[in-house]
Amino acid sequence: KSTLAKQLAAALGYVYVDTGAMYRAVAYFAMQHNLVSETHLDKAGLIAQLSNINLRFQFNPTLGFAEMYLNNKNIEAQIRTIEVSRMVSKVAEISEVRAKLVEQQQAMGKDKGIVMDGRDIGTNVLPNADVKVYLTASVECRAMRRFKELEEKGEACDFEQIRQDIQERDERDMTREIAPLKQAEDATLIDSSEMGIDDVVKAIIALTK
Ligand code: C5P
Repeated sequence: KSTLAKQLAAALGYVYVDTGAMYRAVAYFAMQHNLVSETHLDKAGLIAQLSNINLRFQFNPTLGFAEMYLNNKNIEAQIRTIEVSRMVSKVAEISEVRAKLVEQQQAMGKDKGIVMDGRDIGTNVLPNADVKVYLTASVECRAMRRFKELEEKGEACDFEQIRQDIQERDERDMTREIAPLKQAEDATLIDSSEMGIDDVVKAIIALTK
């Protein structure tokens, strides 16, 4: 999803905003401060710490996209781990966390000219976006893409574990009370299971014309 969104933004000359990175950064912060683990979530503790979480994106010209900074530290690599992926939907359920991040995202979207990627963008963050895409793919297919990506990075991983994590995270995101993952009524559905990235980019660019 982010590979595609980055290519799309580059093709359109737009800025890419990865809102998942912001939720991942909050999850990473919570893990660092022992506020979340497999077995517990200190919701009140995290809410009390929210004013100490300063998030920003900074464009890296070498990479060609913006990286995530938490309290002025580049945490782009740290937020892409399996451990963070497993904790993130727990912190993303907290309304105070969402309110803080959504406010920042709406400010970034105000001037348009952006590709914003995330689970509640078309429904909640930018309901008046000019083009909305609900991008999906089978769980197997997404697990295989993630598996290959981790393998290329040289990280040990188990396909079945990845598949299960993706499925559990989807279920959590789709059934949560606030801004659940769902297709906006005016969004175009694209199932990328059988498509390459270039085909999806072309299909979305066609929607912008
Ligand atoms: O897109 P990515 O996989 O990085 O998102 C990580 C998690 O952050 C999602 O599973 C979801 O729990 C949360 N998220 C969200 N709303 C967004 C973006 C991400 O709740 N707009």
